[in-house]
Amino acid sequence: MIILDGKKTSNDIKEEIAVEVAQLIASGGKKPHLAAILVGNDGASETYVSAKVKACEKVGFNSTLVRLEDTVSEEELLAQVEKINQNADIDGLIVQLPLPKHIDEMKVTEAIFPQKDVDGFHPANVGRMALNLPTFLPATPAGIIELLERYKVETSGKHCVVIGRSHIVGSPMSILMARNSYPGNATVTLTHSRTQNLKEICQTADILIVALGKPEFVTADMVKEGACVVDVGITRVKSDKTKSGWKLKGDVAYDEVAEKCSFITPVPGGVGPMTIAILLKNTLLSSKREIY
Ligand code: NAD
Repeated sequence: MIILDGKKTSNDIKEEIAVEVAQLIASGGKKPHLAAILVGNDGASETYVSAKVKACEKVGFNSTLVRLEDTVSEEELLAQVEKINQNADIDGLIVQLPLPKHIDEMKVTEAIFPQKDVDGFHPANVGRMALNLPTFLPATPAGIIELLERYKVETSGKHCVVIGRSHIVGSPMSILMARNSYPGNATVTLTHSRTQNLKEICQTADILIVALGKPEFVTADMVKEGACVVDVGITRVKSDKTKSGWKLKGDVAYDEVAEKCSFITPVPGGVGPMTIAILLKNTLLSSKREIY
């Protein structure tokens, strides 16, 4: 069994990006610049955004963090987005989700210029992804693709089962795994909360990608011998063994499932760090105007 080490791989990617940024600057180019908007004080969102800002520093990017109260109006948030759209120095903009209930997330996503949408959530970029055109790929699925590629996991002709059909993970994941490219060329089954016989379907998966947000949902009896299992789930659960009082759990019962796998991602240290690495990669692509 080989652990798909997202922490190490993301560090490798960050080093590659840092070298490229240093070369860009040495040849008179400007530093790539990522802006993030954080609304409210949600603990998980704070953690994600600060990890993204820290990663920017590590690779030599500029970063801007705009903090807004959770009472901010949709109008004010849209005005902030527009201000960043118009700022020529900023290459990428992310608005950390989820947003407070009174704000329409899709409206905000659509307000971001597709040229700066380094999360790859704008409908224009989702469409480009579906058509296999150059675009900013959504960071989490693209991070999984990169991990499979760097570990040379065979995907062509394999049966890939994805659990979860969210717009940010499961659905784009199914599109990327079915693309006529490597990694891709898999026969994909996209499953969700209404799927019947989920266990039987999972048992036929050569590659099982799990993104539903239910700790330890996938157990050993659902997994085929020799499968590659990718665990996207991150849930904070209470723990008396850590200083913070909580720990992160994936959607896969790691210990029992790992024994049956050819490859598996741990939580933490698997898909999570890859997501940030791809966000940086997308920001660099944007600063080099390689997509638009
Ligand atoms: P979501 O809540 O938007 O979607 C969950 C999906 O799971 C839905 O499509 C639903 O139909 C499906 N589902 C729910 N119960 C099911 C069941 N019993 N059987 C089959 N399918 C079921 O979730 P999301 O935003 O895609 O996130 C999923 C998990 O991944 C969460 O734990 C989230 O924290 C994590 N996540 C991690 C990263 C990362 O960087 N590692 C990024 C995004 C999300």
